[in-house]
Amino acid sequence: MLPYATVEAAETALGRSLTAAETLWLNYSAHKSDYFLYCHNIIFLFLIFSVFPFYYLFLEHFFKKFVGPYKIQPKVNLSFSDTLRCYKSVMRMFFLVVGPLQLVSYPSIKMIGIRTSLPLPSLWEITAQLGVYFIVEDYGNYWIHRFLHCKWGYEKIHKVHHEYTAPIGFAAPYAHWADILMLGIPSFVGPAMVPGHMITFWLWIALRQIEAIETHSGYDFPWTPTKYIPFYGGPDYHDYHHYVGGQSQSNFASVFTYCDYIYGTDKGYRYQKKVLEQLWERMKSNQEQNGVLHDISAQGHKVD
Ligand SMILES: [Zn+2]
Ligand SMILES: [Zn+2]
Repeated sequence: MLPYATVEAAETALGRSLTAAETLWLNYSAHKSDYFLYCHNIIFLFLIFSVFPFYYLFLEHFFKKFVGPYKIQPKVNLSFSDTLRCYKSVMRMFFLVVGPLQLVSYPSIKMIGIRTSLPLPSLWEITAQLGVYFIVEDYGNYWIHRFLHCKWGYEKIHKVHHEYTAPIGFAAPYAHWADILMLGIPSFVGPAMVPGHMITFWLWIALRQIEAIETHSGYDFPWTPTKYIPFYGGPDYHDYHHYVGGQSQSNFASVFTYCDYIYGTDKGYRYQKKVLEQLWERMKSNQEQNGVLHDISAQGHKVD
């Protein structure tokens, strides 16, 4: 709860006028407890898990011809009932594990030093902190995920997430409860190292899940803004990890590509990409040659 109830009291305490965003935040949060504000994450996550995968489902069903060329595994098509089964399972896990985890993890947030007070962080501060959170989480996630691919970890825990060899957006949080708990730990390490404002924390949790949904969407759209993020893995990168399945010792990182590159766990993926590119080039040159022969024979017929 903020230590000032009115704009005037806040301006006196800060010694300056409040910005429009700060006034908005004060009006919204002044009489709400920090715990209640933290629990907003439950609603945000529920909305993100429900709405964002639906965007891909909508495109697949109503704009199939338009998005079809960008489908990574075009031969695999899940039925609506299979998609619904996935969503129901994710929601069950959400209400049994993710939601309660949010409710009880509040002391760790207090201990870390996530603040709700004024002044609000600048856009630059938010961006820099989010950058740190993504890099730190990606590194921790890489090693936990890699551990989960050992024989025991895979058979006992991680196999559930790999049920989808051609992932869909709804399958991003589809996992064993222990998988969710273990891979959730690195999400708190970045904020613990560089504590920020509650708004930054909300953004962090939301953006990380949106990123996971995009990564599992099964579509590699050329217009997505994430294409401009350096070393970003994206859907094609993680799709390969699911495609190879249980034997996969490649593409463990959740967000970026640098960990797999440094530790040499992207070789299978790079090799497959190279072979596919060569195949594509060969097909293109064959088509061009056939086109030239066709033109010559057509001209020959005209002369005759
Ligand atoms: Zn995996
Ligand atoms: Zn996955």
